[in-house]
Amino acid sequence: MTIKVADDAGIAAAADHLRSGHVVAFPTETVYGLGADATQHDAVSKVFSIKGRPAVNPLIVHVADPSWLEELAESDDRITALADTFWPGPLTLVLNRRSDCPISKQVSANLDTIAVRQPDHPIAAALLTAVDRPLAAPSANPSGHVSPTTAKHVETDLGDALDIILDGGPCRAGLESTVLDLTIETARILRPGVIDAVAITKVIGVIDEHESSIGPINSPGQLEKHYAPSLPLKLNADSAHEGEAYIAFGGAQNAAFDLSPSCDLAEAASNLFAALRELDDPTRFKGLAVAPIPAYGIGQAINDRLRRAAKGR
Ligand code: AMP
Ligand code: MG
Repeated sequence: MTIKVADDAGIAAAADHLRSGHVVAFPTETVYGLGADATQHDAVSKVFSIKGRPAVNPLIVHVADPSWLEELAESDDRITALADTFWPGPLTLVLNRRSDCPISKQVSANLDTIAVRQPDHPIAAALLTAVDRPLAAPSANPSGHVSPTTAKHVETDLGDALDIILDGGPCRAGLESTVLDLTIETARILRPGVIDAVAITKVIGVIDEHESSIGPINSPGQLEKHYAPSLPLKLNADSAHEGEAYIAFGGAQNAAFDLSPSCDLAEAASNLFAALRELDDPTRFKGLAVAPIPAYGIGQAINDRLRRAAKGR
């Protein structure tokens, strides 16, 4: 395995590797992705097997430009408006596949839908342009683990299975994209993320953001066990008990980690996964206790990930 500097030569080598049907880890503004040429069935199979990802959980397709959508999915005004507003950026759109869509059906877990986004990261953009094909890329971690936000995290998790990891430093956002289902009349958030419901509503009007209404058919990924730490995780904790690591928000005495000393939710989001990785260590602690995180804006996505982590155990 090589961690490659993502200069022109590194990106060219990674693009060659992808076009030859291999898998490459690369940075995006959300988390590191495990990329494969989405048009090559065998390359996509490698992503599922390296991650140990259930075949029923579809992958997000990454494009270099919104114009690439035309070949992949049926279009409508909402899609154009959302792509115009939020792309490149952390909003994934679940769309109806075109009947002649060139993407492997495996990417869609055999559904008639396809999830697409244009990442907002110079290395991801340069890589997509060099490959000149859409890349299927889930987070570069074994299924059920915390998503990676540095190249080192990817190396620790999957280094043995990869030839190339492009290093782009720590991810800016640090949480996965918002997933929005546009295959139904009232668009629905399938996974809360960096872009919140209010921002989406401003562009396309009312949306359905009730998690309880999510059915397994529309969102197979919701079945996946997510982010399960090995230590017990306590939410909304004002302090830690003896032996627990306290993850603070906005300062606390004896905190093991402060997600954001200045109560900045974006900073807290970008630190969350690194904090979980660092502190989920049974040789140092008996459990994890996390401070209450305000449930607005990206705070909703932070609370979503924390709830899943607590439930996943
Ligand atoms: P990940 O790639 O690990 O960030 O996860 C991608 C998320 O997008 C999962 O929750 C998937 O279930 C969801 N997703 C991808 N494709 C589709 C699709 N066609 N329909 C519904 N959800 C999808
Ligand atoms: Mg993932």
